[in-house]
Amino acid sequence: MAAPAAKRRVNVVWFKCTDLRTHDHAPLRAAHRAGLPVLHLYVFDPFWHAGRTRICGFPKTGAIRTRFQLESIADLSQRLAAEGHTLCTRSNISTAQCFEELCDDFVVNAVFAFQEICSEELRIERQVRKVLRSRRQGALELFWGFELYHRDDLNFDPLRPRGAFNSYTAFRKRVEEGSRVRSSMQEAPVFRKGSGDTSARWSRADVALPTVRQAMGATYDADCDPGDVKDARAELKWIGGETAALARLKEYLWDDDSLALDYVGATMTMDTAKSCMRDKAMFKISPWLAHGCLSPRRLYDEVKRYEEERHKTKSTYWIIHELLWRDFVRFGSIEAKTSIFTIGGPKDSHPNWEWSTDKSMLQRWIDGKTGFPFIDCFMREMKVTGYCNHMGRETSGWFLIGDLGLDWRMAAEWFETVLVDYEPTANWFNWTYRCLPAVKAKGPPGERLRGLEILKWGTQHDPDATYIKRWLPELKALPATIAREPWRLDMSAESDRGAGNGSGNGA
Ligand SMILES: Cc1cc2nc3c(=O)[nH]c(=O)nc-3n(C[C@H](O)[C@H](O)[C@H](O)COP(=O)(O)OP(=O)(O)OC[C@H]3O[C@@H](n4cnc5c(N)ncnc54)[C@H](O)[C@@H]3O)c2cc1C
Repeated sequence: MAAPAAKRRVNVVWFKCTDLRTHDHAPLRAAHRAGLPVLHLYVFDPFWHAGRTRICGFPKTGAIRTRFQLESIADLSQRLAAEGHTLCTRSNISTAQCFEELCDDFVVNAVFAFQEICSEELRIERQVRKVLRSRRQGALELFWGFELYHRDDLNFDPLRPRGAFNSYTAFRKRVEEGSRVRSSMQEAPVFRKGSGDTSARWSRADVALPTVRQAMGATYDADCDPGDVKDARAELKWIGGETAALARLKEYLWDDDSLALDYVGATMTMDTAKSCMRDKAMFKISPWLAHGCLSPRRLYDEVKRYEEERHKTKSTYWIIHELLWRDFVRFGSIEAKTSIFTIGGPKDSHPNWEWSTDKSMLQRWIDGKTGFPFIDCFMREMKVTGYCNHMGRETSGWFLIGDLGLDWRMAAEWFETVLVDYEPTANWFNWTYRCLPAVKAKGPPGERLRGLEILKWGTQHDPDATYIKRWLPELKALPATIAREPWRLDMSAESDRGAGNGSGNGA
């Protein structure tokens, strides 16, 4: 009988949904420097792709984001193929089981991947480590790289007691005291030309990527899938992948000069000279950043080059400020741990009224049918495109908490399913840091409108109600003031009736 063939020794790059690129990728770089054949792996673990959220049972990854991810993975596969390498994907298998089978077929020298922060990701990471250890294989080697600032380049330890930066401003000041952004070229992979010696294929790998329906399994619902065709009202059609990310970067900075001329930025809602509801006011780069199709350091380097070669404006400063926000949310979540998923959040904030879990009220909020156009336009946009700007996310969150009194975790789960740019720290930390303070409103929800921004910001950012009318076509025929506050129609009908009565009485 022939002796069983010797197993091949390989290094593995374990791609996840947060690092789908070939530039500025420390695990790829390390694996390709290490000399052995490299096996590039992506696992369609049903936990992420066909799982459900904890409270409401929404699909953990909705159809819009699933499509974006499939496009991103296809693009990654093509980019690796251009270097002579293969992306091996496995579907309908847990990550731990996939690594078990990998150990059956190969000698795993080491697994290279990016570092995670949130509990579910860390649990899967621990399972992989356990498999490797129990099978006496090489180690799981982890690298930082999702953030703008590499953790080793911070001049402070984000795990120190939270007092070190318990607010965004404190964090920014700490960072600006002396941390540096490393070049996006520092961890650029250098591919060894793909060949039998440098590239590993896996006979158990899928022959093709799954469809959206296959990836989502039983969680797929055709009625909740807006499909692949761009909604006529949306500014962009999302296309996943590094190629589309770099094209968006080129278009927004170099082709259209939008960064200097149009950009407002997620958190610049207070500047009365700006409107973040006009087309081009938002960079809309978040889906690519969230999936790692674009590294924040590549974006940073391009912004610096743009400032040198074209314009240096408040807007070019502000995009870096937004990336700092992103880091604050990431590093803040390291310390906050699972408290960002709890109803009181990291600061253990609770209202002096009872939370409501009224599902029909939640559904009206989700469907953009609350009767408040400034909220409804954003929620309808989000449902069909997977995106709305920061102001829309924040005000709809305040409204849900302060005015509807709903358990905000149900809403955060809706964001988790629907957002094309969902990233756990960005979603859950923002809910607790930006929206949960609405519990401090005095008196129970429903007594009077708490979120007055709903009225004020509508006038400032959407003076002609163009945006509102785009997403709420039933208001199209109304003048802007009434479209923003349609309840005034009842008031004017009332006063007409009053005038009629008056004249009748007087006759
Ligand atoms: C309740 C709530 C939930 C959110 N959930 C997410 C989420 O799941 N994923 C996500 O990427 N953003 C989330 N955000 C942050 C923010 O709304 C989006 O990043 C932003 O709207 C994306 O648009 P943009 O690319 O045009 O942003 P820009 O203004 O161009 O900003 C550039 C990038 O900086 C990052 N960024 C900016 N502000 C923030 C912030 N406050 N927190 C984290 N990152 C930030 C994003 O990656 C963004 O793409 C959330 C905000 C709130 C209030």
